[in-house]
Amino acid sequence: MAGPGERIGLRHGAGGRAMRELVEEVFASLGDEVDGIGLSALDDGAALRLGDRFLVLTTDSHVVHPIFFPGGDIGRLAVCGTVNDLAVMGATEPLGLTCAVVIEEGFLRADLERIRDSMRAACAEAGTTVVTGDTKVMGRGELDGIIINTAGVALCDRVVTDAGLEVGDRIIVSGTLGDHGLAVMTRRRDLRLEGDLASDVAPVNGLVRAALKAAGEDLVAMKDPTRGGLSSALHEMAHKARVGIVIEEARLPIAPAVRAAGEILGIDPLVVANEGKAVLGVRPRAAERVLAALREHPLGRSAAIVGTCIAERPGNLILDTGLGKRLVAELDGEPLPRIC
Ligand code: MG
Repeated sequence: MAGPGERIGLRHGAGGRAMRELVEEVFASLGDEVDGIGLSALDDGAALRLGDRFLVLTTDSHVVHPIFFPGGDIGRLAVCGTVNDLAVMGATEPLGLTCAVVIEEGFLRADLERIRDSMRAACAEAGTTVVTGDTKVMGRGELDGIIINTAGVALCDRVVTDAGLEVGDRIIVSGTLGDHGLAVMTRRRDLRLEGDLASDVAPVNGLVRAALKAAGEDLVAMKDPTRGGLSSALHEMAHKARVGIVIEEARLPIAPAVRAAGEILGIDPLVVANEGKAVLGVRPRAAERVLAALREHPLGRSAAIVGTCIAERPGNLILDTGLGKRLVAELDGEPLPRIC
């Protein structure tokens, strides 16, 4: 039903196929070719050539509901989301962030200050700071609480895109899957089954720096598995590189509390957002070395080699359950709107 009469639905913001098609069809033509990585690459950010280096930049709006959740809040999420998008382009030293907030009339000032403190703390962890911003207020009922947009800039020598995979490359995840989305969802629905369930929201630039140092040029593709989870990230990477990706179910790191919450809600952690993780594609000779470097970092203790790129089934994600193999469907929408 695409066409001028079509209305935008929540699924268009969910990180799956509907969003990819909307962006490709409506927004991709905004961007002309640039010297570097521009809009048409639809990567985690842009990389503009600046002499012999690259200026990497990215921007994200955050609409998570509820704004405070186990393990974090919208402020921490806004800082980490931007720092992480820079990091997975290979730019692990953010020079500065912008912060634009749109606030609903009636919003508690104390909550705003709590969000600011959380942003400050996240910036300190990532080794960056907010350098400029903007504040707007809209009338009661014209938006739901608060929206925060952050952008970030960094310089780097070598850009790592999400399109660099080749047959034989190994896929590494930096830690457990699905924590953020399921922590937000259980809090939203007030399910009181949280237990150890908390968002993983964290800046991964230090972790990615360690991986880059260990891998050098053998780290060939990277992405942060946010909306749509590991499934959407790997579908996109497979699609762009025209390879198939096989992942082994038994190797996927999933925390017991996340697995339990997923079963109760009927949601596969594989399609659920992470906010403190990276997916790395590495040449096979570097896989063990990168894994060891990740596991030495406090945020990478559960890192695992979970898959391999194959020539068959280009653009597809295949789950090896140990008993057999099946195609993982690319998400159209997502059962979890407003997760970040
Ligand atoms: Mg990203």
